[in-house]
Amino acid sequence: MTDYDYDLFVIGAGSGGVRAARVSASFGAKVAVAEEYRVGGTCVIRGCVPKKMLVYGSHFSEELEDGKNFGWTWDNARFDWHTLRDHVLKDVDRLNSAYTDTLQNHDVEIILERAEIAGPHEVKLASGKTVTAKYILIATGAWPVISDFPGSEHMSTSNDMFHLEKLPNLVIISGGGYIANEFAGIFNGLGSEVFVVNRSDVILRGYDESLRDRLLQIGMSKGINYRFNCTFDKIEKREDGALDVYMDGREMPVVADVVLAATGRRPKIEGLGLENAGVEISDDGAIKVDEYSRTNVESIYAVGDVTDRVQLTPVAIREGQAFAETVFNNNPKTVDYNCIPSAVFSQPPIASVGLTEGEARNRYGNIRVYSSDFRAMRNVFADRHERSLYKMVVEHPTGKILGLHMIGPDAPEILQAAAVAVKAGLTKDDFDATVALHPSMAEELVLLK
Ligand code: NDP
Repeated sequence: MTDYDYDLFVIGAGSGGVRAARVSASFGAKVAVAEEYRVGGTCVIRGCVPKKMLVYGSHFSEELEDGKNFGWTWDNARFDWHTLRDHVLKDVDRLNSAYTDTLQNHDVEIILERAEIAGPHEVKLASGKTVTAKYILIATGAWPVISDFPGSEHMSTSNDMFHLEKLPNLVIISGGGYIANEFAGIFNGLGSEVFVVNRSDVILRGYDESLRDRLLQIGMSKGINYRFNCTFDKIEKREDGALDVYMDGREMPVVADVVLAATGRRPKIEGLGLENAGVEISDDGAIKVDEYSRTNVESIYAVGDVTDRVQLTPVAIREGQAFAETVFNNNPKTVDYNCIPSAVFSQPPIASVGLTEGEARNRYGNIRVYSSDFRAMRNVFADRHERSLYKMVVEHPTGKILGLHMIGPDAPEILQAAAVAVKAGLTKDDFDATVALHPSMAEELVLLK
């Protein structure tokens, strides 16, 4: 018997929170989860999943174009934003229900209210009720950052992109990271004019340089406009809703329908009541945790983006799982952050695991780089002058693979399997010893020179 209302109270029903709640309940814990918006969190409701649907939707314009040499003609092909948007939102509803069902099937109580920490074992709900729990898990995720300059309140965030009333004629995207490049590809594919505006002179900092260069080249060839080392001066909203966007001290504005702020996401801790329990945060506002996701307060844990370790859904899920194993299954588990594969669903997409060439040179000095720079068979046939690039970074003389980096059609689908080999510590020789699967793009991985 517990002296508390619950064994576990989870704040935030996103990827990490839902996994932790469900698994803890399956170990016999009495669990409640509070969610102020919708069950599923960023990834499911306004992130990875609906974004991927928009990526698929936007890619049809290239499919239609490429179909010609394959004998297809598409008379009067048209795109309707409302159809795509509404189907995406319907799919979000489906997933929201599926996540809700999963929790309920595990006897997790869902409280659709905002919750705030009132003490080490106390949570106050928006309705005014206070409940107690042996453990509290914070899984509130992160929230888009909007820079502060005159008129920046007219900017939208990725959250808004799934609800646009109409397809914008011209979109300006502030930032050069994941969200900027993914939405640049989406809007470019759907026919909008796109400007990517970044404060630095690079896109996708942290990814291998050759891949970033390749994406930039391809993006420019598709008509995406890039402005680097560029800052926003002000945004003025006209009566008809159009936005005059002044950048870089230029007198003439660019007139946009939408200005998307894609300049990072900050841990969502505002109004969480962390001070009521004395939970420590880092200088950048993330909740500080140890390797078991425990904060400095013994009864309070945190997982996912709110801890700003690696802002990726599968990582939050692993942290949620490890938390449940540790606290409710007497099986202490930590998360291995080494060799986490990641992808940017740009067009074409990028996928990567392990060290970039630059990182490997700094860390190991003596390395070898093998690559394949090729045009996918399908692109050759379709007269699409878009080249893929696969790159393997290898320790010398052991031959151990330190990193694998790919840009090209379906790169994330291919890399996931190859990442198993990299994680397992296999060598370039192991790849070379594997017979190619012909004809495929993936075979380039065992033919790298
Ligand atoms: P990113 O961290 O990927 O990129 C941020 C961009 O904004 C960078 O280009 C950076 O410039 C610029 N920037 C940062 N701060 C400022 C500032 N104060 N003013 C102006 N520009 C600034 O952030 P995103 O918003 O694109 O994505 C947030 C997170 O969401 C990602 O880190 C990722 O973890 C996750 N995500 C993952 C996806 C996936 O896995 N496919 C998809 C979407 C999001 P600089 O060039 O100087 O670094």
